[in-house]
Amino acid sequence: MPTPAGDSHRPRAMARTDVLVVGAGLAGLHVATLLARRGHDVLLVERRTSLAAAIRTTGIFVRKTLDDFPLPSEHLGPPIRRVVLYPPGLRRPVSLVSDRDEYRVGDMAPLYETAAAVAADAGVRTALGTRYAGRQGNTFHLVGRDGPAVVRARFVVGADGARSGVARDLGLDRNHHLLVGAEEVFEVPANGEPPTFHCVLDPSLAPGYLAWVVNDGQHAHVGVAGYADRFPEGLRRALLRFSSSAPGLAGVDRPETVERRGGPIPVGGVLRRIGCADGLLVGDAAGAVSPLTAGGLDPCLRLSELAASVLDDALRSGRPEALTRYSGAALRAHFRGRLTLRRGLAHVRTPAAATAAFTLLRTPFGRAAAGRILFGDRSFPGPARA
Ligand SMILES: Cc1cc2nc3c(=O)[nH]c(=O)nc-3n(C[C@H](O)[C@H](O)[C@H](O)COP(=O)(O)OP(=O)(O)OC[C@H]3O[C@@H](n4cnc5c(N)ncnc54)[C@H](O)[C@@H]3O)c2cc1C
Repeated sequence: MPTPAGDSHRPRAMARTDVLVVGAGLAGLHVATLLARRGHDVLLVERRTSLAAAIRTTGIFVRKTLDDFPLPSEHLGPPIRRVVLYPPGLRRPVSLVSDRDEYRVGDMAPLYETAAAVAADAGVRTALGTRYAGRQGNTFHLVGRDGPAVVRARFVVGADGARSGVARDLGLDRNHHLLVGAEEVFEVPANGEPPTFHCVLDPSLAPGYLAWVVNDGQHAHVGVAGYADRFPEGLRRALLRFSSSAPGLAGVDRPETVERRGGPIPVGGVLRRIGCADGLLVGDAAGAVSPLTAGGLDPCLRLSELAASVLDDALRSGRPEALTRYSGAALRAHFRGRLTLRRGLAHVRTPAAATAAFTLLRTPFGRAAAGRILFGDRSFPGPARA
């Protein structure tokens, strides 16, 4: 924990670090680890007191991420190859089966804890229960379990999620185009069905996005997401309504107690101004989420690699201008198609329109297009391509 401030009787030296990383989600953990491995002093602060609590993601990892990042296999569910798309009313769904393993759902609590152990091994100092509360130049205010503290850092990394306070304080771009999502998670017995991702396109349940059930034979995730101001009776009621009739749960008794997850999802595409001479943004803070699928786990890992490389450059050369290489403007070009499709999905405002879209989806062309989106090889551009 950094040196507490405000002790007027015994002034102490201010804690110092090369890089202060705010937020220990996957983005913050990854960028902190990469920087520490390159020999930099890194302090990672996280307001949650446990990384296993208040999880905000379903944890579906796509094939490209599983191929490119060494995620601990023991904390990943069985591979999923089957996706079933349902219109409102759930009649005549469209089933798509890939000939490759496409997704695995992470057991996120141990997965975050493993990532934190890897960060610690690399030399990252992590302070849980510690909230970033603002900055004055290169001095950063934190509020920890022992009260307020200050730390001086050469650079700050905002890995603090969709509503980033670091982005605000650095004067960088902020997310304005957001969905909100909520889900319930519980254990399920194997039911002989192949692990399946069920997606329901019904704007009365999930306005502008999807309702989903992921049942991989070990856990079920039942969720809805959409534009906050368009849920007729609010997000919570939409989830209640969906969970009472959700597909893919035949023979499964929903337990009394379930884990609840939820949070905002930025879908406006990666932001343009995500770096300046004092620091940069990664993950949701940078808007690094696919505007169409709302998947952010692959983008947050890849953007963290670029962030670590420009910070390493800036720290070694002593030239903060190295951070100007870190811009979202070029990255946005990769998302033009997905932003257009997001606008299309946002326009599906009635169950009748969603039902009509299924007429197209049932054609060979529609199935092929859906297959390309769901089973495609596209991912967030990595450092080389960026
Ligand atoms: C319901 C839901 C389901 C999703 N499912 C998927 C999925 O299946 N697959 C997928 O690819 N993507 C999914 N996403 C998106 C994905 O989860 C995110 O894009 C990804 O987790 C972002 O990681 P991050 O590290 O940037 O942010 P986060 O994981 O949000 O981490 C930010 C961290 O910063 C901390 N923090 C915030 N403010 C402060 C502060 N002031 N001081 C200290 N700490 C602070 C927070 O506590 C948090 O731990 C989902 C999102 C939601 C909401």
